[in-house]
Amino acid sequence: ADALVRRRRQSRRREKVRAIADGFRRRCATPIEKLQRLADAMTDEMHAGLLLDGGSKLKMLVSYVDNLPTGDEKGLFYALDLGGTNFRVMRVVLGGQEGRVVKQESVEVSIPPHVMTATSDELFDFIAQALKRFVDTEGEDMRPSPGRQRELGFTFSFPVNQTSISSGNLIKWTKGFSIDETVGQDVVAELTKAMERVGVDMRVAALVNDTVGTLAGGRYNNPDVIAAVILGTGTNAAYAERANAIPKMKGALPKSGEMVINMEWGSFHSSHLPLTEYDKALDIESLNPGDQIFEKVISGMYLGEILRRVLLKMAEEAALFGDVVPPKLTSPFILRTPVMSAMHHDTSSDLTVVGSKLREVFEISNTSVETRELIVELCNIIATRGARLSAAGIFGILKKVGRDTIQKGDKKKSVIALDGGLFEHYTKFRDCLKSTLTEFLGDEVSESVTIELSNDGSGIGAALLAASHSRYLEATEE
Ligand code: BGC
Ligand code: MG
Repeated sequence: ADALVRRRRQSRRREKVRAIADGFRRRCATPIEKLQRLADAMTDEMHAGLLLDGGSKLKMLVSYVDNLPTGDEKGLFYALDLGGTNFRVMRVVLGGQEGRVVKQESVEVSIPPHVMTATSDELFDFIAQALKRFVDTEGEDMRPSPGRQRELGFTFSFPVNQTSISSGNLIKWTKGFSIDETVGQDVVAELTKAMERVGVDMRVAALVNDTVGTLAGGRYNNPDVIAAVILGTGTNAAYAERANAIPKMKGALPKSGEMVINMEWGSFHSSHLPLTEYDKALDIESLNPGDQIFEKVISGMYLGEILRRVLLKMAEEAALFGDVVPPKLTSPFILRTPVMSAMHHDTSSDLTVVGSKLREVFEISNTSVETRELIVELCNIIATRGARLSAAGIFGILKKVGRDTIQKGDKKKSVIALDGGLFEHYTKFRDCLKSTLTEFLGDEVSESVTIELSNDGSGIGAALLAASHSRYLEATEE
C-alpha cells in the first residue's frame, strides 16, 4: 500500500512538472507571424527614435561617427573596453593601407564585482590603474613619437548621450553596473580625472559604444558591413543611417551623408514580446526594474537566471529535486549562461554533463535521466526564444535600411558584424539565430545577407576611430 501511495505521489509530481514546462513553452513561443510583428515594431520604433529625443523606447543615439574607417588610419593608439565582466586595454599600431594592423597587444582584467557598484572614483581609478600598468609595458617599437601625447579610443558599453565624438553623459547603467553618482556625468571627464590621479598622460580621442566600435572594426575588414550587433552580457545594435533620415539631429549634416546610430535596442519593448512570469519577476528584482526588457530575454547575463527561476518553481511546487528545495537554487544569478550552454550541448546519452553541472552549481545529486532531459528542454526553450527575438531585431534593421528585399539586378551584399560571448560560444543560440534570419529573408535574399563573427572588433574599432579623430591628423597627413 505504501508503494502505491508513493507511486501516486510520484506521478502527480511528474504531471505538475509537465504542466509547468508546457505552460512555459507556450508563453515563450515565437511563431514567425509574431516575430514579423516584432520586427515591424522594431522598425517603427527606430523611426520614432530618430524623429525626436525621447520619441521611443529606442534611444537611437547619435554617435558623432560620420565616417567609418577606410584603411588610411595610421599610428600608435590605445583602446580601452569597459562594459561586461572584464575590461580590456589594448595598444595597436596602424600602418595605413599597406600595413593595416601592424601590431597589437592587449590585456584583459576582470572587474571585481564590488567595483561595479562602488563609487565613480573607485571604478575609474581601477580602470586608470590597469591602463597605467599596461602603458608601463610599452616596448621600444610601440612608443609614441617624442613630444606626442598618447591617444585613446574609449569603448564604453552603456547608453551615453554623446555631446561630441570625445565626450558624452551616461544616461543609465545596465548589466551588473550600478553607481548612481555617475549617471548624468561625462564619462570621458571621469576617466580623464582618474588618469590624472594615477599619472597616465593620455587623451581620449574617441568615446564609442561597443556596437559602434564593432561596426568600425567590421567595416575596416569588410566594406559591406552595414550594422553591428552585440550578443554578450548585454545586447545592442548600431548601424549606418542616412543623415537626412535623422530629423532630430541638429546642426549641419555631415559631409559623408551618413551617421552611425547606437540603437540601444536592449531597451526595446513591445506588447508582442513573449514574456513569462519568470521574466517579470526577474525584472522586478533586478538592479534596473522596468528597463532593458528586450535585453533581459535575450542576453547572456540573464538566460541562465531565467532557467534557475523555472527550476526553482518546479522544485517548490512539484518537488522536482525531492522533498526539500535545494538551498543553492534560491540564489539569484548563481547559474551562469555558459553553464546553461554546456548543459544544452550535452551529447552524452545519459546527460552526464547536465548531472555534473547540477552537482557543481546547486549541490543537487542523483537526478534521473528524465529530469536531466527536462532541463535540456528548458534550455532549448529559453535559448530559442532569445535567438529568434535577436533575429527579429536584425530583420527590423534590414527593413529600416531597405536590405530586406532585393531589387532586380542588385548584387549588393549586406554584412552584419556580430560580437559577444553569447553569440560566439553558445552554438545552438547562434545556429538558431541564423536559421531564423533565413526564415525571415527567404532563400534568395538570405544569400545576400551574412552574419560575420567580429571577434573583439570593438577594441580595434575604437583605436581606428581614435586614429581618425587624432589631434595630430594634420601633422601626419602626407
Ligand atoms: C548597453 C549597451 C551595450 C550592450 C552590449 C547594453 O546593456 O546598454 O550600450 O552596447 O549592453 O554591451
Ligand atoms: Mg564586449
